[in-house]
Amino acid sequence: MTEHSISSELPALYRAFLPEIFTDPIPRESLATCDNCAMCVAADGSTPRSARYFLPNLKCCTFFPDLPNYLVGALLADGDPALEEGRDRVRERIRSRVGVTPFGVLPPKSYHLIYNHADNKAFGRASSLLCPYYHRTHNNCTIWKYRNAVCSTFFCKFVAGSDGKKLWKEVKGYLSEAQAVLSAYALHRQGYDAERLAENPLADHEEKPRLSLFDLEETADEVAYAKTWGTWANREEQLYLACFEEVRKLTPDRFQNLMGFRGQLGRETLEARRRQVIEPELPTRLCRRGAIDSKPLDGDRILIDSINGFIAMPRLVMDVLDLFDGVRSTEEVVSLAETQLGIELDHALVVTLYQNGLLQADG
Ligand code: SF4
Ligand code: SF4
Repeated sequence: MTEHSISSELPALYRAFLPEIFTDPIPRESLATCDNCAMCVAADGSTPRSARYFLPNLKCCTFFPDLPNYLVGALLADGDPALEEGRDRVRERIRSRVGVTPFGVLPPKSYHLIYNHADNKAFGRASSLLCPYYHRTHNNCTIWKYRNAVCSTFFCKFVAGSDGKKLWKEVKGYLSEAQAVLSAYALHRQGYDAERLAENPLADHEEKPRLSLFDLEETADEVAYAKTWGTWANREEQLYLACFEEVRKLTPDRFQNLMGFRGQLGRETLEARRRQVIEPELPTRLCRRGAIDSKPLDGDRILIDSINGFIAMPRLVMDVLDLFDGVRSTEEVVSLAETQLGIELDHALVVTLYQNGLLQADG
């Protein structure tokens, strides 16, 4: 059986050229149980162990992704009948011409503005933010095989806690950069010159976009559209398919060459983040997080609020946490736990407390 890796979570077309780090083993994010969403109230009525709940017919898809041109092309070229619904939905976006650019199919500008100003608590709960590719009856993604960098790297919970979260944040950054580079490269191969490639919306989202009348009305500005698309207007699908053909031909060397020095730095950071997930190193001195919310679970156990939501722990863990004062070294705390509390504190438990954000580096 193939080991689980970062690549296992990404569209398969990347496997031909992404660097080796993407196929190195990592733990599967088994806490993010998407088919029975870990953030939603379960069918049996049991509540998720999280301070925040998502709605089961929205889950974490209250987000409208940018789809880079070559992923749109890959979806359109895929003959899998299971993707018919997704293809229809993307075609509908293309027909609307709103957010439809040679670089890819993007959300309307007004969506970005609202999303960026939405309260955190709206995520997973506001139906007005729901992704147009989400199937509300099946409660799943209609374009899953070709989802973008944000969607394929999002997890609500992490087996390695904060270290896993940092790893996936880095993957998202690297892949987002790759999306911007590859979409421009594919267009360059189709004859787009440097001037037309300068304003890549996948590389640079305006922080405070000015909304035109067309943006506000969510209709296409036909004059601007004709200018942007040139001879490809009305042949948008063909351009996306051609971009996919360019990207699928890439070799690892060519890809690394396109990603350049920034790509090399990204790769090195990814290696460090993965190492920390596989063999976690702890800071020399740790101290307990200030306010920790907890509630009784059963006889000897309590639920503690962590970065993975409420996790079950032995009741005694609160006394253990108090020993970490940021002054004592972890070795000193281990021997104190034995003399004062009569327990053997193993390394794995300290790592769990640290990765779940209950212990933190002093200062
Ligand atoms: S990643 Fe999203 S769908 Fe999967 S369990 Fe978490 S919130 Fe639910
Ligand atoms: S593309 Fe798919 S995974 Fe991403 S937000 Fe939409 S429905 Fe969810």
